[in-house]
Amino acid sequence: MAEQTQRPITIIAGPCAVESEEQLSSVAETIREAGLSWLRGGTFKPRTSPYSFQGLGDEGLSILSAIGKRFGLSTITEVVDVAHVEMIDKSVDCLQIGMRNMANYELLKAVGNATAKSGKHVLLKRGMAATISEWLAASEYLTTAGSTHVMLCERGIRTFETATRFTLDIAAVPIVHKLSILPVCVDVSHPAGQSDLVPALAKAAVAAGCDALMIEVHPDPPHALSDGPQQLTLSQFSQLVDELRTLAAALGRELR
Ligand code: PEP
Ligand code: MN
Repeated sequence: MAEQTQRPITIIAGPCAVESEEQLSSVAETIREAGLSWLRGGTFKPRTSPYSFQGLGDEGLSILSAIGKRFGLSTITEVVDVAHVEMIDKSVDCLQIGMRNMANYELLKAVGNATAKSGKHVLLKRGMAATISEWLAASEYLTTAGSTHVMLCERGIRTFETATRFTLDIAAVPIVHKLSILPVCVDVSHPAGQSDLVPALAKAAVAAGCDALMIEVHPDPPHALSDGPQQLTLSQFSQLVDELRTLAAALGRELR
């Protein structure tokens, strides 16, 4: 517990996908006003349907990098292709490996090698059908390549339950803390699938001892080009951060 009091909780917030400079800067401003430091935004989007918005690609990456610098925020985006690793490693502070690519070992090796040189962070999401031990094994592709800032991210798994988009495996947080020295993030938006569940899942993740939270935020969720139903509005996000700050303080922890 003494050790827990020292660990801040990192909030990684931002839209599912970067859509425009205006959209991302309004989210960045809200994050900065909340006293937080990380901005997310998908640029190359892995979508279930080929007919869905695929992200702005290079243009999205430039917008994310520019807005991060303008607002003094660290940035994270997903890398879906070995061919993009170098470019994304140059553009952002953290490379996200998504649920669909947790077991793409060639991508893990490429990201491991690149970040071993650059010193950039990596966020490794859990596959939707991966056991904790498969997920931890995947993380070792990164660490054995020499990547030094790897964080694991629980984001829900596929079960028989259909009331949520995915079943958030909250027990993964204390289990991974027992089995690994890597910090654990909980993405509370993708398992929720609907924004009204996000606050409860976020509080549960903090109570479970997570090191970071990932929360999707959009200035106009009904018009979002991806994952609209699960994204918080700017004011819902600010209110949740206030509530999380109170909860974290009760546990001797701070948000950053
Ligand atoms: C995301 O965070 O943008 C994303 C696509 O998440 P996941 O890989 O967990 O589905
Ligand atoms: Mn999303």
